[in-house]
Amino acid sequence: HVKARGKDGYRFYSESMSIDSANRLNLERDLRLALERDELRVFYQPQVCSTTNRIVGLEALVRWQHPERGLLYPRDFLPLAEETRLIGQLSERVLDQACQDVGLWIRSGHSDLRLAVNLSPVQVEHPKFVDTLMQRVRAHRFPAQNLEIEITENVIMNDLEQISQKLRELAALGVRIAIDDFGTGYSSLNYLHRLPIHTLKVDQSFVKAIRSGDDGACIVNAIVAMAHGLKLEIVAEGVETDEQLEYLRKLGCHQVQGFYYGPARPAEHISRTLAFPTAQAASI
Ligand code: C2E
Ligand code: MG
Ligand code: MG
Ligand code: MG
Repeated sequence: HVKARGKDGYRFYSESMSIDSANRLNLERDLRLALERDELRVFYQPQVCSTTNRIVGLEALVRWQHPERGLLYPRDFLPLAEETRLIGQLSERVLDQACQDVGLWIRSGHSDLRLAVNLSPVQVEHPKFVDTLMQRVRAHRFPAQNLEIEITENVIMNDLEQISQKLRELAALGVRIAIDDFGTGYSSLNYLHRLPIHTLKVDQSFVKAIRSGDDGACIVNAIVAMAHGLKLEIVAEGVETDEQLEYLRKLGCHQVQGFYYGPARPAEHISRTLAFPTAQAASI
């Protein structure tokens, strides 16, 4: 969906804006119930080292197991959660569950395993954001250095002063900071060397453009080169094919994530995957 900034924060223009108000009310009521009935699920997608095939991180992606409508994806309910401020509770659940699951895997021998969590603009803009986040992390005794937060360029550009302060505090505590969907936002490159950023996530639209002879690949080349120069880690999103993986590997892109290695899956599935030392290409 397209985000535009309104007077009082973010407004989301998406399919959810066109559904009639009765449907909206139903969905809002259902979402409140979902929180009460604990219907939210956290799925994990592996982030794989492109040279060793080892799983270095897991990105937590929220799902909603709706009693009638089945498994719902973020695009079906996140915009509404953000508008209604249910996003605070939703994020708290996701973070709690993810700290619990990944904390267990870290303590059972995968000591360097990284947990990547997506944060919404509403959350990050809250004055008590750092305290709220760290309170949850500490409650689970989750090691801060194993945590990476994913924010978008828009969040940074929105209020550079405020965000710098918050990111500095988090970085000082050992938390890593990733820029999600890099290259698609409204941004200036100037912040990259002024803020404590650790990782750039190349948006999947640029990865899609990796085909022989396609000019779109130039953007991936440029982003990876820049990340190398700035000594930032780089994760390519949406890697689906052998060709894309090979291209990114040759380019020196450190990590890849995508359907090539598999979609986000429930914790039970990830537990079994982690029992093997290296990730296998998904059989698709
Ligand atoms: P994102 O953080 O950029 O996550 C990547 C999205 O691409 C995920 O969609 C993932 O399932 C999908 N994906 C992964 N590999 C591939 C691939 O190879 N091909 C294709 N076509 N897609 C792939 P998902 O799970 O539907 O999430 C969509 C967005 O919703 C996320 O984009 C993120 O911005 C947001 N989101 C997800 N979970 C949370 C959450 O817990 N909190 C917040 N605030 N936002 C979340
Ligand atoms: Mg993300
Ligand atoms: Mg992304
Ligand atoms: Mg996104």
